[in-house]
Amino acid sequence: MKYITEPKKKLPVYGNFDVVVCGGGPAGSASAISAARNGAKVLLIEQTGCLGGMSTAGLGPTMAPFTNDREPFIRGIALEVLNRLKEIGGTGDTPKSSTMWPVIDSEKIKLLYDTLMEEAGVKVLFFTGVFNVQKIKNKIIAVIIENKNGRQAVTGKTFIDATGDADLSAMAGVPFEKGDNKGKMQPVTLCFTAAGIDTEKFKTLRNVTFKGLNAKMTEATINPYLGKSLPDMKHGEYRYIVNKNLGNGVWGFNFGHVYNIDGTDADSLSFGMAYGRKLIDNFIKHARKHVPGFENAQLLQTGQLMGVRETRRIKGIYKYTIGDYTSLKTFDDTIAVYDYPVDVHAPTKSKKLYKKHEKQFTADYVLPAGKYYSIPFRILVPVKIENLLVPGRSLSADRLTQGAFRVIPLCLAFGEAAGLAAAMAAKKGNAMKDTDFALLRKKLKAQGAKVG
Ligand SMILES: Cc1cc2nc3c(=O)[nH]c(=O)nc-3n(C[C@H](O)[C@H](O)[C@H](O)COP(=O)(O)OP(=O)(O)OC[C@H]3O[C@@H](n4cnc5c(N)ncnc54)[C@H](O)[C@@H]3O)c2cc1C
Repeated sequence: MKYITEPKKKLPVYGNFDVVVCGGGPAGSASAISAARNGAKVLLIEQTGCLGGMSTAGLGPTMAPFTNDREPFIRGIALEVLNRLKEIGGTGDTPKSSTMWPVIDSEKIKLLYDTLMEEAGVKVLFFTGVFNVQKIKNKIIAVIIENKNGRQAVTGKTFIDATGDADLSAMAGVPFEKGDNKGKMQPVTLCFTAAGIDTEKFKTLRNVTFKGLNAKMTEATINPYLGKSLPDMKHGEYRYIVNKNLGNGVWGFNFGHVYNIDGTDADSLSFGMAYGRKLIDNFIKHARKHVPGFENAQLLQTGQLMGVRETRRIKGIYKYTIGDYTSLKTFDDTIAVYDYPVDVHAPTKSKKLYKKHEKQFTADYVLPAGKYYSIPFRILVPVKIENLLVPGRSLSADRLTQGAFRVIPLCLAFGEAAGLAAAMAAKKGNAMKDTDFALLRKKLKAQGAKVG
């Protein structure tokens, strides 16, 4: 690779904050709300033009269940987001009392996040990427941002890396793992919405072929119709995963896989986006001819963000393992409890591997109703940097448990805990590892979260 040397330059300081949150997905949004509600001056930096990450710019059409029992395990800000989304009609045909796979109307949830930030007094900066950090010893003192105004610095007391890919942590020198032991990662999915679907016809088809609520891989729905006439895609496949009714003939789709994409590499992502769009175009053309209810289907939109399931997992002061999960280990720093099973998609097209992963999700790691595993705060605390927290899908867990922890309700819960801890640390000046766990849990409980 060739290099050029950048001239040294003084950077303007955009502002100084108690808590600087980088990335406005579920984890970052909940972090910002929680920190601001606890008295911190908060900046939330997001590279796209909306909050919600994979659930908005990525068009993910649903949230994972909040429980496998009757009472939701995930509560606090996450449940508040769901309930307020229902109030503004943003959950499609989800029954009012249900917390099971609620539908997400991406436009409604964007609006909701804007409102929540305004209410909490969070300063939001859209169309801004975080591209570097400045450290003094083991503390971050500033992040370097870039946007239409050029390059600037943002100083702060505590920082939250909610980029999903642990961008900030990697820049700050936090060690990480990526993918399986050969570095192979789960396939990515470009989600989309389509209009003009005959909902009654399509629903009948779903009801006939649907395997049951616990079989998340609901691809049975229309897979029988994904016949031979679909062009073979070497780097992808048309497996049908989740479809959600947004109303008025509009459905959201989490559909297909593109393999061997690295969500932290711009070239790889660029290839994946174009490939994903081709896959979807092939599917829509095919479905109009062959799938009942799709005769007049029209592609509305494909995601602006690629659906990336995994990239970096940081090295934290504690690493959660599948042994902790299966033994239902409890912790004195538990910040959330949950029961969502291990949901790791096979990294190749292999049918054998697919079956293995499906079994993990539908049998091997399914907890009995009412049972839950506990998740400690320390998996959000990276080694090496003392004023940084990493909620969301890049936290410190082994690959299997990351596959359970990466879903939206839990990312919201992680964000709530991270925002609160960051606000506490900004006030007290402590390192994140020295957080008063008992106080954190007490405050989380008071905020409505379930911590054991
Ligand atoms: C295809 C697919 C389907 C899924 N389906 C479901 C589902 O049905 N139910 C469910 O609960 N979960 C689902 N998930 C999981 C879930 O959506 C994500 O894991 C979750 O959104 C992760 O939250 P996050 O906040 O950690 O990251 P993200 O949602 O990825 O948000 C990260 C945010 O940070 C921003 N960002 C990234 N880098 C930078 C940077 N350098 N500077 C500034 N901003 C940056 C991004 O633009 C984004 O807004 C799905 C995931 C995928 C990929």
